[in-house]
Amino acid sequence: MFSFEKESNKNVDNFKRCLASTVKTQSHWGEEVPISWTKLESVFKHLQKGCKVFPFSILLRIVLKTNDLGIKNEEDLLNALTFFNETGVILFQTEIKHVIILDVQWFVDAFKCIILDEKHVKDKTFLDNFDELHEYGLLSNNLLEKLWKNDNFYQYKKSLVNHMKQLDMLAELSEEMWYVPCMNKQKFDSTILDNCNASSRLCFLFEFLPFVIYHRLVVACINNMGMKPWKSTGRMCIFHTVTILTYKDDTHRVLVAICDNKERTHRDFPYSLEIQINVTKPREIDTRTTSKIQELICQNITVLTQGFFSCKRHSHVGYRCKLVPFGRNLESHIIKEEEMTKQDYECSKCSQVHIVNVDSIRRFWKVISF
Ligand SMILES: [Zn+2]
Repeated sequence: MFSFEKESNKNVDNFKRCLASTVKTQSHWGEEVPISWTKLESVFKHLQKGCKVFPFSILLRIVLKTNDLGIKNEEDLLNALTFFNETGVILFQTEIKHVIILDVQWFVDAFKCIILDEKHVKDKTFLDNFDELHEYGLLSNNLLEKLWKNDNFYQYKKSLVNHMKQLDMLAELSEEMWYVPCMNKQKFDSTILDNCNASSRLCFLFEFLPFVIYHRLVVACINNMGMKPWKSTGRMCIFHTVTILTYKDDTHRVLVAICDNKERTHRDFPYSLEIQINVTKPREIDTRTTSKIQELICQNITVLTQGFFSCKRHSHVGYRCKLVPFGRNLESHIIKEEEMTKQDYECSKCSQVHIVNVDSIRRFWKVISF
């Protein structure tokens, strides 16, 4: 059952229709589930009173002993848990199936402690430690202990952090340090790329601002692809809308950015996630490496946008019309893949019309249909 509240009657029918069609696109819609599973939900409610985190192995033992649940083996339980995760009753991820979070709101509250602003921090004594998190998104174990000590979260640190990592809410930089991208407020300064050769910019176009996808992509690059934040002058290059990560070969770096394109020419897809590879001069960019990175990033974007219906339907790929390191104050526009039909593309989107050699822009990337 879904309930909603609206202050006026304006558009209420359209809103209901939209709500209904959105709900029906959920993967579990129309799926038949055993009635006995509802009893399992009561088991969760009962267990929840005693603890928030529960080991899978013990739950399995309990349900196998309880006859009327209709769960006969481990596979049955995994199916039921996956269903209850999708419907928001519990938090269960098959990748870390040994620990189940029984109380989703409690998990959300734990994350809320991390993303507090300084005005709402109750205990002012550790505010000096808070700056690294508040300004740079860097969360030390020390600070986490303080943020979580009041509400009993800290004793479940390992389970909570693991689930947050799995959901791309934070990235593990070391055993004692995490990166929480939504807290980062640093501005990018393009001069750090002055001595670099850069690829063209591959752009994934969106109708809406995909900030969550940007954050999750950065986290996924660190957690799953072995990339690490690049350090320049002793500071990690992670900024509010731009991140530079080192690729495993240690020569190529990946810049991931989110752009809000206000120009008239970008009206149909005003937002983009952009990828640019850079190396230190006189090194040259190896296009085999850029293609490999592109493949990895595309896989991740596909996974990350799965839950976004409109995004899946409308996403397009394009390239910036000029070949310069990111962030230089130089006008450039996005040419969509499907617009590149000729070898020489005449870009009249820029205020001074210019010719783009399509090969020079495309040579870094494999042709993709997205
Ligand atoms: Zn142009």
